[in-house]
Amino acid sequence: MVLHDKFGRAITDLRISITDRCNYKCVYCRTGNEGALFGDLPFADYLRMARVLVGMGIRKIRLTGGEPLLRKGVVDFVRELATLDSQSKQVPRRIAPRNDNRNGEPLDIALTTNGHVLADLAQPLKDAGLTRVTVSMDAVDPDRFARITRVPNGYDHVLAGIRAARRAGLGPVKVNCVLLRGFNEDQIIPFGMFAREEGVAVRFIEFMPLEEGRTWSPSSVVTMDEILARMAEYRPLVEIAHAGSETARRYRFEDGVGEIGIIAPVSHPFCGHCSRIRITSDGKIRTCLFSVWDHDLHAQMRRGASDDELAEFIRGVVEKKEERHHIGEPDFVHASRTMVHIGG
Ligand code: SAM
Repeated sequence: MVLHDKFGRAITDLRISITDRCNYKCVYCRTGNEGALFGDLPFADYLRMARVLVGMGIRKIRLTGGEPLLRKGVVDFVRELATLDSQSKQVPRRIAPRNDNRNGEPLDIALTTNGHVLADLAQPLKDAGLTRVTVSMDAVDPDRFARITRVPNGYDHVLAGIRAARRAGLGPVKVNCVLLRGFNEDQIIPFGMFAREEGVAVRFIEFMPLEEGRTWSPSSVVTMDEILARMAEYRPLVEIAHAGSETARRYRFEDGVGEIGIIAPVSHPFCGHCSRIRITSDGKIRTCLFSVWDHDLHAQMRRGASDDELAEFIRGVVEKKEERHHIGEPDFVHASRTMVHIGG
């Protein structure tokens, strides 16, 4: 069987943070320090972890950070990841699950980036085997963008990165926007226009309590219902059929031009369909963004564990996957790491 947790959820989706350094200091994410706290590992170590996990039924790998494109050698790493599919067919029987869900489906290798250096890397990444890219962008107004990221002139770089990704065929390119009340919710309609003009799928993400500055409160969240109401003032939307496992609710504009999506972990949690685990830049497994502990896979490697032993360790960790997050509830406990050090 594919890797399952004790609630019956199939784990098919892996996120690997390859650094917790970031060249942006987004105000809702960071307090303004230099970023790296936990450091990173040689690519060969992430590759081994990924190989074992692909052998256990993982079908999607997303590279993230920190800012993953700051890591030299990322293109070669993607090329190596792309070879895992064929290798996984040769993994030992004890690792390869019986009746797995591979079904000839190719391994999906995606990337989440702030896009700052994407323009030059989009085509090499595509050639190496990257399938999709998501670019984070929290304003379409350049001045607002600079105030959020605390980086001057970033906007032009990011726009060039988005366009290069489209040209390279890394599509559909998604643009993720986190909305904060009183800060950028006036960007909702401009983002609708941007989606139509640039041919990208804009995804609005509800703000979660994962920031370094502890500024989150329920009232800071711009909810899915508010986003939909605001966007409908611009143009009518039609909902696109939703597969249970999808995190985003997707909508197209009624005239067929442009798509938006909303990821609403706060107002419409989707934990019941969560298929994800994460590996942090320092080689720990996290079973939920809101985990209060993580599981040291890299320590197992350092002590000389075989692939079978790593697979056993991973199975034990997945067993402990949390049922759901408790955002906004009286018993909510902050995660043991903030977003930049987990990998979003
Ligand atoms: N540097 C890359 C980027 O900018 O996409 C990858 C890492 S970044 C932490 C991943 C995503 O997490 C970004 O889209 C960012 O906006 C989002 N994010 C960060 N803090 C968040 C929070 N507290 N709630 C919701 N999303 C958050």
